[in-house]
Amino acid sequence: MKVHNFSSGPAILPEEVLAEAAQAVIDYKNSGLSILTMSHRNKLFVDVIEEARALVKELLGLSNEHQVLFLGGGASSQFFMVPMNFLGANQFASYTDTGTWANKAIKEAKNFGEVKVLASSKESTYSFIPKDIQVPSDSQYLHLTSNNTIYGTQYHNFPETSVPIVCDMSSDIFSREIPAEKFGLIYAGAQKNMGPAGVTMVALSPEFVERKIDRVIPTMLNYQTHIAENAMFNTPPTFPIYVSLLTMRWIKAQGGLKAMQQKNDHKAAILYQEIDRNPLFRGTVAVEDRSRMNVCFVPENVEHEKPFFDLCTQNGMIDFKGHRSVGGFRASIYNAMPLSSIELMISLMQEFEKKNG
Ligand SMILES: *Cc1c(COP(=O)(O)O)cnc(C)c1O
Repeated sequence: MKVHNFSSGPAILPEEVLAEAAQAVIDYKNSGLSILTMSHRNKLFVDVIEEARALVKELLGLSNEHQVLFLGGGASSQFFMVPMNFLGANQFASYTDTGTWANKAIKEAKNFGEVKVLASSKESTYSFIPKDIQVPSDSQYLHLTSNNTIYGTQYHNFPETSVPIVCDMSSDIFSREIPAEKFGLIYAGAQKNMGPAGVTMVALSPEFVERKIDRVIPTMLNYQTHIAENAMFNTPPTFPIYVSLLTMRWIKAQGGLKAMQQKNDHKAAILYQEIDRNPLFRGTVAVEDRSRMNVCFVPENVEHEKPFFDLCTQNGMIDFKGHRSVGGFRASIYNAMPLSSIELMISLMQEFEKKNG
């Protein structure tokens, strides 16, 4: 039976990408070497990382002067690396508290300087994106989580501010076009929408590349270290970078972020439409803030949770249980999720309604 993988991460990747990655594990470009066993100084790998760095810029619409790094430690390490590098002890940065990940970023930043939490939706189980925030113009940066993976909310408009935005785009990177000029730093753990676990992409604007801080920073945790060595200061996570490159090539071949956005908008729209139409289900977050990546919904009757879950499981759907803090269901429908899997979920919701409505 075909498996429909709705995992929130590590998550689905395009089948073509997996096939090409599998071949590269056996023999990369007829070199007689596996991509796994090749020196990172080998010209073949240097070409991989350079193309990957360039494609990040091309897809996101960043300038040539941006610096793209591929680091270890997960997006979670960026929660402390960002303030360690850009928030002085006598300075402050602004944050919005829109979910578990945003909250963790806030907690880490407090170890380095002052944190102003401009708005929080915690009291309402993070079911909306706070709007109309006033960002103090002397903030070092404004930190946002563009898509809240656990709760299923997403910024569809980024705040109007002159302060550069530092953005955790782990779960919606490359899913849509972005206003590149607003961002001082973008980071994303690869395992949601970009590649396998084990690498985190970081893109710094020219201004952030120049920013210096009066603090001793461990060598590996200093962005400058990696910038100075063209993202090759130490052994980078070679295979996750390679698979991320294959995914980026796939995105480009699909028509880039504009095309991805159109597809993602459509996929999310038809699923939300069914959630709204079907009397047995309802969405859990404010309609205008609904994520196009993580669609969270609950049964109107809690007794329906298990039988609907079982019906979906019988049809090959896996990993679409809602996070324990929300309950119900979460369909993570990243770039690589085919429309047909979403159509199947919709038809199962309708079948379930006929039986139980
Ligand atoms: C998954 C996730 C993280 C954590 O990523 P790790 O790579 O596991 O550290 C951080 N932020 C967001 C928005 C996420 O979805």
